[in-house]
Amino acid sequence: MEAKMTDQTEDTFQSFHHAEKTTDEPLIRVMALHALAYCERLYYLEEVEEIRVADANVYSGRRLHDKIDKGPDIYSLELASERLGIRGKIDCVKRRSGELVVSEHKKGKSNKGEEAWPSDRLQVLAYALLLGEHTGEQINEAHIRYHADNRTIKIRVSPEEAEKEVEAAVQRAWQLRSALQRPPVTASEYQCRTCSLAPVCLPEEERFSEEQGDRKVQRLFPQDDERRVIHLVEQGASIRKDGEQFVIYLTDGTKKQLPGRQIGSLVLHGNVQISTQCIHFCAANNIGVHWLSFGGHYVGGLQPGSGGVQRRVRQYQALSDPGLCRQLTRRLALAKIENQLRYILRATRDKKQDSRDKETELAIEQLRASIKALSSLDGDAAQKVENEDTGKEPIDFIRGHEGIAGRIYFSLLPRILKLAEDDFLAFDGRNRRPPRDPFNAMLSFGYALLYKDCVAALQAVGLDPSFGFMHTPRSAAYPLALDLMDLFRLILWDIPLIGSVNRKQWSKDDFAVTGKQVWLNADGRRKAISIYESRKQEKWKHPVLNYSLSYARTIELEARLLEKEWGGQPGLFAGLRLR
Ligand code: SF4
Repeated sequence: MEAKMTDQTEDTFQSFHHAEKTTDEPLIRVMALHALAYCERLYYLEEVEEIRVADANVYSGRRLHDKIDKGPDIYSLELASERLGIRGKIDCVKRRSGELVVSEHKKGKSNKGEEAWPSDRLQVLAYALLLGEHTGEQINEAHIRYHADNRTIKIRVSPEEAEKEVEAAVQRAWQLRSALQRPPVTASEYQCRTCSLAPVCLPEEERFSEEQGDRKVQRLFPQDDERRVIHLVEQGASIRKDGEQFVIYLTDGTKKQLPGRQIGSLVLHGNVQISTQCIHFCAANNIGVHWLSFGGHYVGGLQPGSGGVQRRVRQYQALSDPGLCRQLTRRLALAKIENQLRYILRATRDKKQDSRDKETELAIEQLRASIKALSSLDGDAAQKVENEDTGKEPIDFIRGHEGIAGRIYFSLLPRILKLAEDDFLAFDGRNRRPPRDPFNAMLSFGYALLYKDCVAALQAVGLDPSFGFMHTPRSAAYPLALDLMDLFRLILWDIPLIGSVNRKQWSKDDFAVTGKQVWLNADGRRKAISIYESRKQEKWKHPVLNYSLSYARTIELEARLLEKEWGGQPGLFAGLRLR
């Protein structure tokens, strides 16, 4: 008969964190050692950059621990050791045949039904050492229960050997803590498929980059964001919290309830109130809050999430290099102009005659000339531009082409819009700050929505939107968000907007005029938001990585690919092209 723990033994098993409190350096969590043994990149992302993603696997692991039968000899026990430099929480401690045994529960399967996985083994060895030090008893055995294949693997513990293994792991963990660069992705592709941080790590995209495109990328990045974006446009409305629900109070006295966990972000337009409790809830649950002015100008936002200093330092170092800024600017400008050209070619082709008028042909040739000039601008050629008597820096040369192409593109829009000359939406060139006609009001409003999404994506990735490469900090807008936006202006707003105009979806009643300024009113804003948000949900095939995902997710994906430009796997950012 197996001995039960005595009350006295139970009393000694109290949680304590004295070691944590008396050391200058934080103790390494045993779960962090588990991550380290699984994949060094995973350890770095979680423990050094402090990125945590609670995916379905993590939640089902938590549920498993909730469901475990809490018999008389099962405890959830927190222990720490300054000598070992670790701390952790043991699932369960049993007394069997007079000896204490560490017992862990795992949701998955054992290794071939025969042994424990190396990361699980290291974890229980570390627990055995903690338990041994705390109780003064020698721990000779640890059990790991694998629920998926219903197996219990027993591990013999030799305290000397265990201490050597754990000590080596702790040392490696400290080495990695002081590194600025992420370790390489694991060689075991199989491990990535079940890794909760794959959407952040993008291992398949890195392998694709290393193998120079000679590989079919398996999509580990989520195709869609299941959480909703809620825009509040009614002036005087307010939003409060009731338990885990948001409650929206409208000015006519009605109210609407929204389950908090289903919301990805709240966008408050103009005079809309939000309670402090709501803001706390959003911050705690990774829900973005964005404030836009009545006119659609981005005022600011709350984007919770980790802001690892390593990512910022890497970004500042990289974007302080003029050569890298020039390369990125050239690629971004090329992407923008090529997409403008593709769209113009598609939208101006007269299907009956398979031809275009002369002015359009001339404009198209100018766009092609800009693409040719930028395409040939590799390292040496860029230097030549710098040395010519133009007095221009190569980056200004690129910006110059980008600016000219933009003016040509907007000059061609009236040919794409199916409008009578005197139509209230007739477009005669871009103007802003403030917009002076309805079409420009719509353009500006849509770009503000896109800007908000680009700021949010950069912050979610942990980049500083203030530090860009093509745009310089001349305005209140974040330069890196403006850079990222340039990839999406045409795809996410111009194309659906022009489609809606040509389908006659707009009326004069959607606009408000103040002096020479034109704004979208509440109805107009709702219409624009609906067009923009629907477009974001559309799926498309990423032209470089060749897997499909929503446009909404593409914004974050491109922000992550941008970060890889200085993370050792360059060449994937700004490959977006209209098909
Ligand atoms: S996705 Fe793969 S390489 Fe990246 S952290 Fe996870 S296991 Fe490691």
